[in-house]
Amino acid sequence: MLEFRAQSKKILLSTEAEKLIRSYWQRPGQFETGGALAGMILRDETIVITHAMVPSAKNKAGRFWLLQDREAQQLWVDKIFRETRKQSNFVGEWHTHPASKVTPSGPDKKRMDDLLKTSRLEIDFLVGLIVGMDQKIHCWIQHKRRSQKGFWFVGRH
Ligand SMILES: [Zn+2]
Repeated sequence: MLEFRAQSKKILLSTEAEKLIRSYWQRPGQFETGGALAGMILRDETIVITHAMVPSAKNKAGRFWLLQDREAQQLWVDKIFRETRKQSNFVGEWHTHPASKVTPSGPDKKRMDDLLKTSRLEIDFLVGLIVGMDQKIHCWIQHKRRSQKGFWFVGRH
């Protein structure tokens, strides 16, 4: 398990999900790729990311952009939800960047805002993970009410 920590939030990433995400790091010349994240919120509000989705063939991408297919994500999340007996649900997305120093782009934050607005969620935030060319995983949290807490960086491993 990898642990990310910032402010009052603690995020754990299962070893299986970590390995999957890292394996897709963007080699020179390759396009961005990514998938959904499924996880559960513990009683102490720790977020445990249990599953990372293999990238959908329906995603559209270039070297510096990615449009993840929502329908493919939904099917995957529904499957995980069933398989885990309603324990793990949609908690965010992961994707790659063609850089070592990684920060979420404007379109990345906009995408999160759209997901927060249009997804049926029991949580009021989403987790974003980006794997850089240094194969490190960077984590951020984006809150539904931007004015209140907004967005913050949780760390990298
Ligand atoms: Zn991005």
